[in-house]
Amino acid sequence: MPKMKSTIISVIRLEPAKPQEGDWICTAHGRAACTRDLVAVAELQTKDAVQTYRVCEPWLSENGDAAAYLAEHGYDNRP
Ligand SMILES: [Zn+2]
Repeated sequence: MPKMKSTIISVIRLEPAKPQEGDWICTAHGRAACTRDLVAVAELQTKDAVQTYRVCEPWLSENGDAAAYLAEHGYDNRP
């Protein structure tokens, strides 16, 4: 199956960071794989929809698209 292509359209910083709780989990890594606090909400434009990603700090640097987006646009900067 081809990898779904998506484009980041905004990254909103959560201050302070919020612990994961209930349905409020790290979308990027999943409940089982990640217990870190969430530091940002990213909106990703896919082919058909905008997806909301709640993410921890490491994702912002390990995900190439996120790192590139932040380097260019910074936080809280919708197009
Ligand atoms: Zn995570």
